[in-house]
Amino acid sequence: MPTDRVASRLIDWHDKSGRRDLPWQRDRTPYRVWVSEIMLQQTQVATVIPYYERFMARFPSIAALATAELDEVLHLWTGLGYYARARNLHRTATILHTGHNAAFPLDVATVVGLPGIGQSTAGAILALANDQRHAILDGNVKRVLARYHAVDGPIDAHTTLEQLWQLAEAHTPSERVATYTQAIMDLGATVCRRAQPRCGDCPLSDDCAALATQRVAQLPAPKRARAVRRVRHVCMLLARQPGGSVLLTQRPPSGIWGGLWCLPEFESAEAAFEFASQRLTNQQAPTPALAAIKHAFTHFDLVITPQPVVCDGLNPTVCEQGGMVWFNPRQPVRVGLPAPVKALLESL
Ligand code: SF4
Repeated sequence: MPTDRVASRLIDWHDKSGRRDLPWQRDRTPYRVWVSEIMLQQTQVATVIPYYERFMARFPSIAALATAELDEVLHLWTGLGYYARARNLHRTATILHTGHNAAFPLDVATVVGLPGIGQSTAGAILALANDQRHAILDGNVKRVLARYHAVDGPIDAHTTLEQLWQLAEAHTPSERVATYTQAIMDLGATVCRRAQPRCGDCPLSDDCAALATQRVAQLPAPKRARAVRRVRHVCMLLARQPGGSVLLTQRPPSGIWGGLWCLPEFESAEAAFEFASQRLTNQQAPTPALAAIKHAFTHFDLVITPQPVVCDGLNPTVCEQGGMVWFNPRQPVRVGLPAPVKALLESL
């Protein structure tokens, strides 16, 4: 057992009551752990499990992921959010397939250089899958360490992060690293929770500084105040053929919903009608806009007003059809759709 008292108590706690039945804990390969760590970023375990199972069934290896179409990867990601994660997984798989014999590298410097993998994620993958000694500092670990050591300062401040990295490094044991890493992440997710922490069940409660000074609710200190949250309004053209197919366009590869298929988006209803009058054939008189849909991104809210029109098709004289498809919601093909667009199409 490690001599560090935090590490030894966490390992002991995990041996007795930790989660060991999660899908990515079976058959721990670096590939399987990598996919799980990416999916678990900003997403709860219960949400991730069905996505992970479907993803692994379809892409059981780096080669399977690398040789798949990005559209199919995005399709399996639909609803999980933060689509840059899916694009980076696919890009990284392609890099590993062509340059690393479709094997996941086991040296941390190479792993950190891969798209979408930061220092903490690289450490977690190599610790969990290969028992290598690396400190990690994801959101859960930051909270545990900030409370246990009563670290003041906004959690996103450079000096706070430096201090937390030093503490993470000091506690990481050189034996049973995989168990320790899983344990400290699980403690943050299930016991030292953001709201209603269960200090009575915590293996670190004996000498937790936040608990001793009654500052659990105040720590970690919130991030520095951001500017007022932005709200962006857009109009989406819901162009339908009499048979029910809906016009979709593919979004640019970067930016929000990059690479996903979406209703044509415009700054205003006027711009949407102008597009419709120029590009659609035999358009019927427009019907009133549907109820607005609000979708929250990390830094702003998007308010979408869907504007329905019925038409025969696209005008071939003014419209190249590249990047556009007629999508039949009753016979959906495997493409990635933004969650609010998917929900709207399913409601039609
Ligand atoms: S005692 Fe409470 S605040 Fe301290 S580490 Fe445990 S759960 Fe977190």
